[in-house]
Amino acid sequence: MVTSMCFRRIDVIDVLVIGSGPAGYTAAIYAARAGRKVTLLTGSQQGGQLIITSFIENYPGFSEPVSGPELMEKMREQAEKIGVNIVYDVINRVDFSQRPFKCFGDSANYESKTVIICTGASAKWLGLKGETKYIGCGVSACATCDGFFFRNKDVAVIGGGNTAVEEAIYLTNFARSVTLIHRRDTLRAEKVMQQRLFANEKIKVVWDAKVLDILGDGSKVTGLALQNTKTSENFELSVDGVFVAIGHQPATAIFVGQVATDDNGYIIKNQTNSKTSVEGVFAAGDVCNPTYRQAIVSAGQGCIAGIDADKFLSINN
Ligand code: FAD
Ligand code: NAP
Repeated sequence: MVTSMCFRRIDVIDVLVIGSGPAGYTAAIYAARAGRKVTLLTGSQQGGQLIITSFIENYPGFSEPVSGPELMEKMREQAEKIGVNIVYDVINRVDFSQRPFKCFGDSANYESKTVIICTGASAKWLGLKGETKYIGCGVSACATCDGFFFRNKDVAVIGGGNTAVEEAIYLTNFARSVTLIHRRDTLRAEKVMQQRLFANEKIKVVWDAKVLDILGDGSKVTGLALQNTKTSENFELSVDGVFVAIGHQPATAIFVGQVATDDNGYIIKNQTNSKTSVEGVFAAGDVCNPTYRQAIVSAGQGCIAGIDADKFLSINN
């Protein structure tokens, strides 16, 4: 059960975990099992990104596909059983200039000896009607997660960066055909990636095309409504699946100026552990990982962060 809170929290917490995805729950479980007083703030998306997916087939421990909500509920239960104080709150400002660190939420303010940032990232979407309607029914932003469901089907990938090219190539392992749709006539992806794309016989590129909408029959995707940006000609493409690959956005706006971030806004962490630029502040999961955006990776990094926070407290309590 998520606990309610008074407006101002007086006790200083040992470990404050921000985020309730796989990274957050795992970090909290490890820190709590080490005997630390842990509070986890769920944010507005309790359970994180997986809450919107129906089938997960690549998280170990489940021989049958597990739904995202079910997997995240199991993580929440486990964390709560171990003694993690789970609070529904959204942080909108932090002050990491001195310890204890201060985090200001919608419902309460928190003081903590350590903080683990697990606020994740989210895919950028095109913002089309059909996209919202068919997410999980043919529309995806993750080929590694959903490519398997498109065996011998025709799919389209939207975007022209490294992610789009990588997703298109990956999807050829399953799909009958892959059409890459890009809004310009040159790709942003690295040359070596482009060469691999053009050499793949299963992939066709549609240049200068804007997606007007994603079409469907009410229950699944059937195609795309497109417009040529040079001629303004409208046309349609029949596909069974659409992978939107126009970039991701890490949830780090509240940490800018407090912890070092890279040009794309991801938290910069030490490569071998979870330390950030501020001693006592750690990071795990998609928020610091633009490449391997997977639940198991986030959980693994959460484990590292939970252990790091405990070690830090052993020396600096
Ligand atoms: P997230 O899951 O993004 O969680 C971030 C958390 O931070 C959320 O709880 C949010 O509420 C919280 N938060 C954000 N800002 C604040 C704030 N200001 N204050 C407090 N809390 C905040 N991966 C797989 O391995 N297998 C799959 O099959 C798979 N399928 C996917 C399907 C979809 C549709 C999507 C979108 C992703 C899928 N992924 C899959 C990727 C996987 O969901 C992510 O890699 C994983 O959830 C990242 O975990 P995380 O804990 O780092 O962050
Ligand atoms: P990106 O480089 O920002 O590319 C986004 C692509 O989506 C661009 O081609 C852009 O078109 C297109 N786009 C953006 N908004 C759009 C919209 N509304 N409608 C249609 N198209 C739209 O993002 P990314 O490919 O996710 O890569 C992010 C970072 O991760 C990059 O630094 C990339 O190099 C890196 N990355 C590296 C690897 C690798 O090294 N293997 C793999 C993946 C990602 P325009 O080109 O017209 O702007």
